[in-house]
Amino acid sequence: MQVVDIAKCISCRLCAFDCPAYAIEMTLNPAAEKYKYYPVVDFGKCVFCYQCVRVCPTQAYVTSNMYNLASFAREKIIKDVLKKDIES
Ligand code: SF4
Ligand code: SF4
Repeated sequence: MQVVDIAKCISCRLCAFDCPAYAIEMTLNPAAEKYKYYPVVDFGKCVFCYQCVRVCPTQAYVTSNMYNLASFAREKIIKDVLKKDIES
């Protein structure tokens, strides 16, 4: 699955515009000083085409080796995963 490096994201929304499954929602990060919106993926809709990774102009969206997304509850599939979360 893909994860966002929030430090590199410039809130341009290209990833959300380009997503063929409408799986990305730009979400407010109140703690951000400049770029206040970042993408959150609904992995219940995502088809893993990685167009969001390709289109990102700052390489803020990157692939990862995380794969365990399954859940019996649909609302738990929506992941707000940041790159810094999987590195710590
Ligand atoms: S991998 Fe494809 S379907 Fe999934 S969020 Fe990115 S652009 Fe959308
Ligand atoms: S395309 Fe990249 S920089 Fe633009 S909003 Fe998406 S993750 Fe952020």
